[in-house]
Amino acid sequence: MLEETVSKQQRIADRAIVIGGSIAGLLAARVLANAFHEILIVEADDPSNGQEPRNKVPQGHHSHVLLGRGQNILEELFPGIIQELIQNGSIVTDFTNDLEWFHFGEWKKRFPSGIKGVQQTRPFLERHIRDRMDLIPNVTFLYRSRVTGIIRSDDRNRVQGVQIRNELSNQEEAIIADLVVDAGGAGSQALKWLNAEKDSSEIVDIDLFYATRFYKTEWVDRGWTNLMISARLPEHPYAGVVLPFENQKIGVTLGGYLKEPPRTEEDFELIARMLPQPHIYDFIQKSTPVSELKIYRIPSQSRKRRKITSKLPSRFIMIGDSYCRFDPLYGQGMTVAAMEAELLRKELGRLSTGAALDTAVRSYWAKLPKLTNGPWEMALIEAYRHPGMKQWLTQKIYKTSAHDHSVYLQLAQVMNLTRSSSLFFRPSTMWKLFR
Ligand SMILES: Cc1cc2nc3c(=O)[nH]c(=O)nc-3n(C[C@H](O)[C@H](O)[C@H](O)COP(=O)(O)OP(=O)(O)OC[C@H]3O[C@@H](n4cnc5c(N)ncnc54)[C@H](O)[C@@H]3O)c2cc1C
Repeated sequence: MLEETVSKQQRIADRAIVIGGSIAGLLAARVLANAFHEILIVEADDPSNGQEPRNKVPQGHHSHVLLGRGQNILEELFPGIIQELIQNGSIVTDFTNDLEWFHFGEWKKRFPSGIKGVQQTRPFLERHIRDRMDLIPNVTFLYRSRVTGIIRSDDRNRVQGVQIRNELSNQEEAIIADLVVDAGGAGSQALKWLNAEKDSSEIVDIDLFYATRFYKTEWVDRGWTNLMISARLPEHPYAGVVLPFENQKIGVTLGGYLKEPPRTEEDFELIARMLPQPHIYDFIQKSTPVSELKIYRIPSQSRKRRKITSKLPSRFIMIGDSYCRFDPLYGQGMTVAAMEAELLRKELGRLSTGAALDTAVRSYWAKLPKLTNGPWEMALIEAYRHPGMKQWLTQKIYKTSAHDHSVYLQLAQVMNLTRSSSLFFRPSTMWKLFR
């Protein structure tokens, strides 16, 4: 159970505004609700209906995995939500037992690890979190309303609220707040409004495309639940993954680095055929499409620079993709947003022992880079981008994990962000890797 760090009577500050009511915004609002009397989520879009991706979240058309760490935090913030997801149709899988994974030229040996994951489409997950937010009385949603600017104090050193425009009435309005949280996603304009946009991010080009189509199938005895064929650069630039979700929908996603995305459904099948193993192509042949082909291009992985964030005015923070956007093939975005919400909860918890809001906010910013370092590095460790030691060690881990259960288990834990990669540096693991 989530411990209410600040009880209702103890709520310190009056109002927090959250820009964006997507995954990061919802999780932020959940933890802000303990410390503020009122939380206002300003969302440019309509609410999620739980089935179709929202217009302003186009990545919702693509398969999303929720890593173990994200699942744990979600359950802490909303006790019982995982069971609710399962009852309503999420698929439960065991990471190492139910995934048929072709990785670094080898099939991994499958075995039960107990690392259980719930699988559902992104709209389905968002709707479930959104429904839980209805139970929190001090959170209000303002839909079809866009934040158009940030209000600052006369000396520009403190954020004091936001300017919003309601799409239906076209009315502009200023709303004052004690804290503004930017959860506006990768396209957030917040730093532009704060005149801090120039050279604000460290950027690593990844030039990745995602191409996804959903299917239904009668082919039940295929011998696997999840299937993944990893890219291996430079010979195999394409990757593919097949994941079942609620309502018998099965997502097929193909991704490619430094390659043009498929333009047609025929191109999509052609790429599936070019993968180093035929399984995904076979699956497509034996299944019926239930959605159109959708493409998403991810030019880079990016994170806001410390030298910029340390100079931002007070009473302002970022969470989720607005702060850091990862290579999505590692499935980390939502889980990192959850970890950031958890950090925010801890920092706000200090208010109950007399810490000032400014101190809590500064401490949140100071800890963010470290929190994102692990996932950031993991997503960049692709052989072709980081030559040298890391590449070599990663290759060893990938290769050894194909046949050694304990190394595979450690890899699965690190990938699920439940353990740190320092796990690989234990003498017993190093011995296995280097013998
Ligand atoms: C192709 C793809 C696949 C991915 N796969 C995975 C995966 O498998 N697992 C995973 O964990 N993550 C994945 N991610 C990342 C994941 O989608 C995000 O990390 C996650 O959705 C958190 O996003 P967010 O809430 O920060 O932003 P978003 O989900 O992008 O939402 C931003 C919200 O802010 C609103 N908004 C923006 N500006 C304003 C404004 N000015 N005023 C009001 N509202 C505004 C938008 O309408 C939107 O609702 C993937 C991403 C992509 C692109």
